[in-house]
Amino acid sequence: MIPYGKQSINQSDLVAVEAALLSEYLTQGPRVKEFERDLERYTGAKHAVAVNSATSALHLAYLALGVGPGDEVWTTAISFVATANAALYCGASVDFVDIEPQSFNICPVSLRSKLESAVASGAKLPKVVVPVHMAGQPANMQAIGHLSKEFGFRVVEDASHALGSEYLDKRTGSCEFSDIAVFSFHPVKMITTGEGGACTTNNPEIAARIERLRSHGITRDLKEMKNTERPPYYYEQVELGFNYRITDIQAALGSSQLRRLDEFVHDRNSIAGSYGILLRDLDLDLPKVSSACKSSFHLYIVRVGSNAVETRDQLFMRLRDRGILANFHYIPIYRHPFYQEKRQYYADDFPEAEKYFDTAISIPIYPGLSQIEQLQIASALKADGA
Ligand SMILES: *Cc1c(COP(=O)(O)O)cnc(C)c1O
Repeated sequence: MIPYGKQSINQSDLVAVEAALLSEYLTQGPRVKEFERDLERYTGAKHAVAVNSATSALHLAYLALGVGPGDEVWTTAISFVATANAALYCGASVDFVDIEPQSFNICPVSLRSKLESAVASGAKLPKVVVPVHMAGQPANMQAIGHLSKEFGFRVVEDASHALGSEYLDKRTGSCEFSDIAVFSFHPVKMITTGEGGACTTNNPEIAARIERLRSHGITRDLKEMKNTERPPYYYEQVELGFNYRITDIQAALGSSQLRRLDEFVHDRNSIAGSYGILLRDLDLDLPKVSSACKSSFHLYIVRVGSNAVETRDQLFMRLRDRGILANFHYIPIYRHPFYQEKRQYYADDFPEAEKYFDTAISIPIYPGLSQIEQLQIASALKADGA
């Protein structure tokens, strides 16, 4: 079976993990800090804080921006549920914005009109808006940045797909147009630490708060303490935090993988280039990358064309019968029963997300997907259908 995505682990990754295992610290040692410095260098952000998953990173990012009960967090209708769930962990409410049909990213035009109707009806404006860089193509951050100034919300980028991508010649994670960017290091993502995630930011207070929340809300920084007369072992818990720490074993793998990231991005882009040729005559809409962006091509999402003889689900099943595990990213979050019970969301409010839901399919893309496999996938897509 050919999966839609998978990790690439090489000898240098193994050496790095072995060295961490044989070192003095398995967790809370020097390797987490090194990984964070590596992420800062790579993204260009002033601060990086590594945690045990992107879900945790989203939770801490929202908390660090003061999200709590009574607040609204808005995100795109098409994302993994974790983007929205993390806002519920904070006691906030979630609402969704429709997507752009080309990029599958949050639509700035829909966002503006939703903001304007909230203003007109006296409804609550969002405290935080969360664009998700679908498939590795950055959202229209400039437009979202303008709206954030006009309507006074903060921006968290869910960049779980997008480590290694670029927007207006800056790497994702530089936070040029956002307060915080969040990354995932799950095995199907751009680099892996097994489980893992990180926040990047240019704001030192936000970074310090995320770091403190990662570890129980405990501080050893005198400036943050109430009692300053204290012996060397002394620390204070100043707020309620969590154990969201990443281990040194994982961080060692992360640093090693980060050194390989440019190669991963290159491989994924060349597979996307070759699909562009192999699939061009099929009744499929192929992904288009805006000239403002370089995509990391975490996913390769095609859409079944309007004249196709098969539905997306028929195509999906046929690929599966031929050993190709295509996938679908993602069911619109508002369609999940859990979310439907929270609030009445109307499918009519999300016409592009609904069309996407009917037609999109993710075909395999990952470093190491061979040319023979690419041909096999192309011919399976062709056979007696599309
Ligand atoms: C994978 C993913 C997450 C969650 O990442 P974890 O590291 O598994 O917690 C969140 N948002 C998006 C868009 C993702 O793709």
